[in-house]
Amino acid sequence: MGIKENIEDIQKTINSACTEAKRDNKEVKLIAVSKTKPGSDIKKAFETGQKDFGENYIQEAMDKIDEIGKDGINWHFIGRLQSNKAKFAVKYFDYIHSVDSLKLAKEISKRAALENKTQKILIQINTGKEDQKSGIMPESAEEFFENASMLENIKILGLMAIPPFGMPEKETEKHFILLKNTLNDLNKKFPELKMSELSMGMSGDYTAAIKQGATMVRVGTAVFGERK
Ligand SMILES: *Cc1c(COP(=O)(O)O)cnc(C)c1O
Repeated sequence: MGIKENIEDIQKTINSACTEAKRDNKEVKLIAVSKTKPGSDIKKAFETGQKDFGENYIQEAMDKIDEIGKDGINWHFIGRLQSNKAKFAVKYFDYIHSVDSLKLAKEISKRAALENKTQKILIQINTGKEDQKSGIMPESAEEFFENASMLENIKILGLMAIPPFGMPEKETEKHFILLKNTLNDLNKKFPELKMSELSMGMSGDYTAAIKQGATMVRVGTAVFGERK
């Protein structure tokens, strides 16, 4: 199957997951994760009407964005971001999903001011409390927001999580629920932020994520095929 058919299939699956969850399908955005895939694949997806793309590696992403451009595309940075690369992420990306420290948030704020933009970001929460994964621990989220909510030139849209891999769906679902509950708690404490985005769900579990309130699903393999 080609990229076009894959995207059509995924959109159908998203639509039926929304119907089942009694949600409006306009609330759920498909982000096609194109890491390691060539620009020609992104163009194929774009020609079918796909407008949101996710990338993980700054250098690779800059090369592809230079090749493809930004017109009509929302570029989402979803990989681990070191503070010293924040300036590139701010320059190239419309959204940064993986903000995982106050140091990084401050650097993004500073770089966004220099670029005269308000950078849209999401805060990554380490719902599985895994050592090898980045993200703010759920119990530290409130303290993080007390500081991050003061920063200028950023707009915090919501939260993102990558649940532990290889879990049965019931377990993965608990992480989606935790992320949703964390967003609700933070919105009560920081109502001025009016956060609405939940970036959760990948090729294997995006329907479960939609059931739990995902507004952005990050789907790579199911769109572009297996990565090497
Ligand atoms: C690679 C990646 C995805 C996409 O994963 P698939 O399983 O290929 O759909 C989603 N989110 C993040 C953060 C990723 O790194």
